[in-house]
Amino acid sequence: MKRLVFLGPPGAGKGTQANKLSERYGLLQISTGDILREAVQQATPLGVQAQRYISSGTLVPDEIVIGLIGERLKKTSDQSNAGYILDGFPRTVPQAEALDKMLQNERVSLDKVLSFSLGETELIRRLSGRRSCPSCHRIYHTEFNPPRKAGVCDRCQVALVMREDDKPETVRERFKVYHRQTEPLLDYYRKKGLLIEVNAGGSMEEVMKRVLQTIGDLPVVSKV
Ligand code: AMP
Repeated sequence: MKRLVFLGPPGAGKGTQANKLSERYGLLQISTGDILREAVQQATPLGVQAQRYISSGTLVPDEIVIGLIGERLKKTSDQSNAGYILDGFPRTVPQAEALDKMLQNERVSLDKVLSFSLGETELIRRLSGRRSCPSCHRIYHTEFNPPRKAGVCDRCQVALVMREDDKPETVRERFKVYHRQTEPLLDYYRKKGLLIEVNAGGSMEEVMKRVLQTIGDLPVVSKV
């Protein structure tokens, strides 16, 4: 069972690669961003709390996301034997420390932490064309990864949406937050010998090849 963390700035392709790995190899994609956005959509108490952070491009407080992941990880062993990818968590050192404790309690450990890197101009190009399915969370790009029918999810036939926090002002804030609060995690995981840097440039398939080289072979469960 693989336990992976995907790190990287907004737009680097963490979610896209996690989508693919989950579809092809049955790895569970655990995205705190998706969980939070769904809570916002449903206006649950968590969603109401999270909304203002998400729309301003800042981080939801640690205790909230740590609680959320704690609950989610408890359920994972029943859901996938292949393992999971934490996509967008941890994003701060306290979150990483809390994750370590949770894993220690279960007497398990992370296999690898992949850090996706890409220059800012390319990140912005990816974010401005990103569209996602509000129902299944599959990610598209108007130019690089368009759906079969413009604006509609291939799988759910639901209209795709652009994320509110992908607008330029919010993207700038998200980059700042990434450098200030999340980048220190690279050192945190490098010191533990878990960090692998992945060049996130090029096509989805090219990046996928690099990802598979780093995490090793996985049995295919579905060809997508
Ligand atoms: P993402 O979909 O990963 O880009 O996350 C979208 C937004 O959700 C972020 O800009 C944060 O406001 C919030 N968020 C997602 N994951 C976390 C996390 N691990 N810690 C704090 N806030 C988070």
